[in-house]
Amino acid sequence: MADMYYDADADLSALSDRKVAVIGYGSQGHAHALNLRDSGIDVRVGLPEGSRSRAKAEAEGLRVVDPATAASEASVIVVLTPDHVQRHVYTESIEPHLQDGDALLFGHGFNIRFGYIKAPLGVDVVMVAPKGPGHLVRREYTDGRGVPVLVAVEHDASGGAWPLTLAYAKALGGLRAGGIKTTFTEETETDLFGEQAVLCGGVSRLVQQGFEVLTEAGYQPEVAYFECLHELKLIVDLMYEGGIAKQRWSVSDTAEYGDYVSGPRVIDDSVKQRMVEVLSDITDGTFAARFIADQDAGAPEFAALRAQGEQHPIEATGRELRGLMAWVKSSDDDYTEGTA
Ligand code: NAD
Ligand code: MG
Ligand code: MG
Ligand code: MG
Ligand code: MG
Repeated sequence: MADMYYDADADLSALSDRKVAVIGYGSQGHAHALNLRDSGIDVRVGLPEGSRSRAKAEAEGLRVVDPATAASEASVIVVLTPDHVQRHVYTESIEPHLQDGDALLFGHGFNIRFGYIKAPLGVDVVMVAPKGPGHLVRREYTDGRGVPVLVAVEHDASGGAWPLTLAYAKALGGLRAGGIKTTFTEETETDLFGEQAVLCGGVSRLVQQGFEVLTEAGYQPEVAYFECLHELKLIVDLMYEGGIAKQRWSVSDTAEYGDYVSGPRVIDDSVKQRMVEVLSDITDGTFAARFIADQDAGAPEFAALRAQGEQHPIEATGRELRGLMAWVKSSDDDYTEGTA
């Protein structure tokens, strides 16, 4: 079993005499800044002049300064800008203000694991990574609960990196649900694999291919949309509550038998083998190098792939159908609003 931590294992005093700078105010940044503030921690938000997030943070009563000022005031610097921006913010605004005894805290290990950020030896390098989107991290906290977190210490320069990390996880609300001890390497590699092979890449492609097979066979796109996308939520909710077993218990015996005989035909060992190749591209840095090179070139590949994804016929069908379903419409509004 993994080492687990709960509220009783952490003492907020490790954080109460520190000043905290949250750099970035997107999905994670807003949740970290607000939860820490409501836990009584001295927090300021670091955002560049002209950032659209500034007004949102100020409207919540947070103090907003530029990232360099935030980093120089604080001794705990929380790096929550997009992963591909972190090394630029780090060299321009954070590194010049780091002193021995400071701590750098991450919500994902990408830049440390792949060496894009190399912290000075006198600085603690730690992670508190919520296993859920930022908006849930905030909502659970205000409801008196929390989202589980992964906690890790890459470098314990001060000798107090663990108490500090656990205090931060507690202030964030994460130890109400539980903190799992991990390493930067394990968190980064499993997070990238999960989102690429299963959660984002795997599921999106599975849904698109299923929709294509049905519509190319002449079935109506609206019916294909319900079968391959809309109902996915009901299935995933059951898995979330009680594993694959509860999902199989809830569906009809016809569906359950079809699962056993057709699932392994679709997702066969060749798919598993390519998942192994995806993992290998993650662990040897191939994926990270490709992502960062594209970002450094102005993200032409990313932009083209995003545009191509939006052109898939399932998106037009979905927009039309969601317009008929009052209860899902609000999520389309959030999505067009964006978080940055
Ligand atoms: P985001 O895109 O939602 O928000 C990024 C924020 O950074 C925005 O407020 C933006 O204005 C700000 N920003 C951009 N450039 C900046 C700069 N130069 N200086 C200061 N601020 C700048 O990002 P996110 O999804 O919250 O991701 C932040 C980190 O959290 C990443 O390391 C990510 O991997 C990790 N993470 C995210 C989630 C999630 O639910 N989104 C979950 C776990 C971990
Ligand atoms: Mg993840
Ligand atoms: Mg991720
Ligand atoms: Mg059905
Ligand atoms: Mg059943």
